[in-house]
Amino acid sequence: MKILDLHADIGCDVLFHHKRGMKNVLDTRHTEKLLKGEVSIVGMASFFDGHESWEEMQEMILTLENELKESKTWQRVLDKEDLISDKPKAIMTVEGMCGIQEDVEEKVQWMYDHGIRIASLCWNDENVLATGVKGNPERGLTELGIRVLKKMEELKMIVDVSHANEKTFWDILDHTHGMIIATHSNAHALCPHPRNLKDDQIQAIAKRNGVIGMNACAYFVNEDLSKVNAKALAEHASYIKKLVGSEHLACGFDYMDFFEDHEASTICDLKDASESQHFIHTLKETDFREEEIKKIAHQNVIERLVSYW
Ligand SMILES: [Zn+2]
Repeated sequence: MKILDLHADIGCDVLFHHKRGMKNVLDTRHTEKLLKGEVSIVGMASFFDGHESWEEMQEMILTLENELKESKTWQRVLDKEDLISDKPKAIMTVEGMCGIQEDVEEKVQWMYDHGIRIASLCWNDENVLATGVKGNPERGLTELGIRVLKKMEELKMIVDVSHANEKTFWDILDHTHGMIIATHSNAHALCPHPRNLKDDQIQAIAKRNGVIGMNACAYFVNEDLSKVNAKALAEHASYIKKLVGSEHLACGFDYMDFFEDHEASTICDLKDASESQHFIHTLKETDFREEEIKKIAHQNVIERLVSYW
């Protein structure tokens, strides 16, 4: 079954290998695994952990953009019409905007002009715009962050709340009418990690017609890493379905197999994109009907993008 994965840190990998002289990093390192797992629409993230400058943000975004422009395999999703073709597709995303410290409207516009369609204001860090899960819990969105949200809303760039701390999460909901999603977070009730969403947050995202991408990173699936597998991830989906309905579920696997030292974060039967169909099979064995699985696999997100854009 066709899968849309909302989050893979592929932008970092592309830049890392470009700097070492590799060309066509997507096809050399990613395409085969993604297509083997039928992951044919991918949120390709340029990820910034809090210390990068604006120039460094631009470098990663431009490197990924250039690869996608030259790619014979991947087509960029820039508008809803781009979602129609059968060609594998990339949605360019940004995880953390720490490099934006001034001229915020201009810089968000630059991101949009270079293909970014989904973005989070912060990673786990605390930056001049917002506060991530490792920042001060009393601190949320800033005035500059509110300006970023306004510009994103004007451009219909989707706001990703996956790394926001709780205060930032609620501040974001209060300060934009734009679309809000969590690209890669699970249910806090089943695995109490700060990156996972509490019930009221899940309900708030659903109320705004957003979606939540199920994350296959082991730390967000179960505190006991010996109990982490595709079935345990399907239980998160099942929990969220019971709380708000399957129309608010999506995939956001966050595979890290292409990074060094990734083993600890890996699920035994969802190690990389090539194994993604295991999640689909496990949903079938849990309590999901075929049409619900299709929604989670790709339909929910595609429908949101088409109606929003
Ligand atoms: Zn992340």
